[in-house]
Amino acid sequence: MGTIKFTHERWLNIYRYATTGIQLIFIALNIYSIVNPSARFSIGTTELAPYILALSLVHIIYFTLIFNTVARQSIRLATVIIVCLISISLISIIHATGQMHSYWLIGWGLLCVLSGMFGIYIATGTSLLMAAYVIFLIVSGNYSYVVVEEISVAIATFILCTLSWLIWRKTFVDPDNLVIQELTGKLISKEQQSTILIQAITDGIIVTNTKGKISLMNPAAANLTEWSVNEALGLDAHIVAKLREQDKTEIPESESPFTKVLVNKRAVTETYQLLGREGSTRTVSLAISPVIIDKTDELTGAVAVLRDVSAAYAEEARRADFISTASHEMRTPVAAIEGYLALALNEKISNIDLKARSYLEKAQSSTRHLGKLFQDLLTSAKAEDGRLTSHPGVVEMGTFMEQLSEDLKFSAEKKGLHTEFVIGTAGSTTNATNHSNVRPLYYITVDPDRLREVITNIFDNAVKYTDSGKISLGLTGDARVVQIRMTDTGPGIPADDIPHLFQKFYRVDNSSTRTTGGTGLGLFICRKIVELYKGQIWVESQIGQGSTFFVNFPRMDSVEAIKLQGEQIQKASRTLPTIT
Ligand code: ADP
Repeated sequence: MGTIKFTHERWLNIYRYATTGIQLIFIALNIYSIVNPSARFSIGTTELAPYILALSLVHIIYFTLIFNTVARQSIRLATVIIVCLISISLISIIHATGQMHSYWLIGWGLLCVLSGMFGIYIATGTSLLMAAYVIFLIVSGNYSYVVVEEISVAIATFILCTLSWLIWRKTFVDPDNLVIQELTGKLISKEQQSTILIQAITDGIIVTNTKGKISLMNPAAANLTEWSVNEALGLDAHIVAKLREQDKTEIPESESPFTKVLVNKRAVTETYQLLGREGSTRTVSLAISPVIIDKTDELTGAVAVLRDVSAAYAEEARRADFISTASHEMRTPVAAIEGYLALALNEKISNIDLKARSYLEKAQSSTRHLGKLFQDLLTSAKAEDGRLTSHPGVVEMGTFMEQLSEDLKFSAEKKGLHTEFVIGTAGSTTNATNHSNVRPLYYITVDPDRLREVITNIFDNAVKYTDSGKISLGLTGDARVVQIRMTDTGPGIPADDIPHLFQKFYRVDNSSTRTTGGTGLGLFICRKIVELYKGQIWVESQIGQGSTFFVNFPRMDSVEAIKLQGEQIQKASRTLPTIT
């Protein structure tokens, strides 16, 4: 059966329905013959009638009830059974109705013409079936007919079947092949579509296998990386798409986003500098996703989309530059106004009446606010374009925080708020809780001035937004991180606002912010500074119960920190001017 070929399914369907229709005619004929045995088309007089009826019924039952089940396994087998049933029914009816003179021979001729549709085996089988019948007639010694007639019918059957096969051969399509061909066709057209799409997309697309080797790259990616597609295929993605951090620091292979995505099976979206093969540098936004087969959870590679954002970044840099220049220029006269107002309000220098004093005090407060705004604008512009000055050094957080909390507490006490500073509080993330009187040493690398700016900002907010209660500063840590916590008993922050809190100019819209001045830049600057030192900042808060701000920094190894600190002190002493 393996090489049997079938024609198009549409033809098969026509064939199946037609043969079933013929079988219905046979049944009707049988019934008609039983009722009227002497009629012209009667087959009821022969002993074959019950078999013909049975065969026809089997055919109908098979076609209506069983065909689909068999076809699901093998459409060939299902159809061949129908071919067999109709062939045997027809031979039987020919035998019952006049043998070589039967008008049903026309039906047999038709069957022969269609047999080629099912391929050479069915065509041959149909000829052989008639040949076997003719031999049976001759051997059975029924000489009432001329043998020549019988042989002629057998030869005619053979010729018809051969012709049929030759004619149908051209349109033969194996249904399995047909499905494959159809699918292949669809796949090819889908592939063509996706190729057209990938080629047309202006974003660079790089597809890698599980080893990070490039298996597909579009012209846009070739343009960005300055590699030709043919040369890049098969190479490591991180060699072709040479990435640097935004501050131009190199990325080791193990830290490459391509490696990270394949190792962690998690998407990465980041902005990098892309170094072209010919020496160009572009700012690109890179989104790499692992390609995972849903059912098996198997990683098959990664897809990277590169977008050139150099122009947008340049525009942003120009904007930031303008803001920083403008705020710098405006800060100077504001400082002068602030100075003169301070002189005017100084009782030892100026003599002014109470009303004028109150006006001047209001002017001084507004000028301070303006000065802070310009200062914040300047810092945030610098933080955004990476121009924030930073002189990182080793800082022991315990000592640093103790001193800072002493400085900070006055502003809180002025408002009637309590303050406390605890190292290694209960419920902290630390394992290094203070079991003895020896407190743990938490070393980190930061610029102390920048760190002061962060903590002061969060503390000032706590004081600003808390009407009564307490502000607690905590310091904890574990082997990897040092954590600063600032808890207040203020109004709390709505959950909807928390994700936006560290964005530029974001202020919670409520009565306390409406009555309390602010720029919405403080926490943005804090985040930028914290990220500068690879730290994290976040807040946990509940309305009416206060807020806790957390700042995490990577903890330094104590031995290394003490060594570095010693070197810092030595370096500082060498640069000190000698007093003679
Ligand atoms: P602002 O100059 O408005 O204080 P920030 O960036 O410092 O700007 O803070 C952003 C917003 O976060 C504030 O407007 C305020 O609504 C909210 N916020 C910050 N700290 C607290 C706090 N401790 N308690 C309640 N709300 C706070």
